[in-house]
Amino acid sequence: GDDEEQQMPRHRVTTKGSDVPEHIEVFEALRERYHTPGRLLSNLSDNKYKHPTGIQSYGIPILLEGRDLAAISPTGTGKTLSYLVPIVSSLGRPISSAKNDQGLGVRAVIIAPTRELAHQIHNECLKLTVGRKWRVVLFSKATASTLADKTVRDKVDIIVSTPLRLVASLQAGNLNLNNVRHLVLDEADRLLDPEFLSQVQEIVAVCTYPNIQKAVFSATLPAGVEALAMGMLRNPIRVVVGLKDT
Ligand code: ADP
Ligand code: MG
Repeated sequence: GDDEEQQMPRHRVTTKGSDVPEHIEVFEALRERYHTPGRLLSNLSDNKYKHPTGIQSYGIPILLEGRDLAAISPTGTGKTLSYLVPIVSSLGRPISSAKNDQGLGVRAVIIAPTRELAHQIHNECLKLTVGRKWRVVLFSKATASTLADKTVRDKVDIIVSTPLRLVASLQAGNLNLNNVRHLVLDEADRLLDPEFLSQVQEIVAVCTYPNIQKAVFSATLPAGVEALAMGMLRNPIRVVVGLKDT
């Protein structure tokens, strides 16, 4: 019954930036406001996701309005769905069933610092895309070699990867990111760390789609790293979530 719905703690949310869109109280509000596909909404409710968390309630409308976003929200507050829901909603339909007006090549890329995190994000994305012919690829050595074939690659909708895997394919000339409309850096504090920074910059540099949307998500964003992140974003909105009792 209703009592079995997953409850997430309430959060205090602050936003900074121009023209911040109104937040949502329930995922269902996305149907009318952004024409979010019914299948995506039913996949959410089938997974007992009914009430958006703080970062979801603010972040999803911001991304669906095409804005760049820097989101800072503690671990466990649902950052993953905050970007996956807008990506799946705004792509609308898989490339395999779209009219050929979407250009060729992958349209969304999510970067995470470790393979384990990329794996979790990929799993979450599979839940949201059940029931339609979405191709969501967890980039690995094996999938990278499959995708070296352009005809295979051009049917992929979303790639989840660590920086190193992507850079290896880019350097081998086996990947084209010029049709990427949504680029997300998850755990951005680590991705903008010296360990990954030059790889991330190399990826950002080849994402040349003119109206590309970029978003960074992190539990923390130290000042120096935040400056780097903000430098990558265009007229961004910054959302900060704190636990209510802190
Ligand atoms: P973060 O990336 O902020 O650490 P995750 O995206 O990994 O958080 O989500 C943490 C957990 O919360 C996951 O198990 C996820 O399934 C669950 N979760 C996310 N959003 C919701 C929601 N709206 N309602 C209930 N559970 C949720
Ligand atoms: Mg996370």
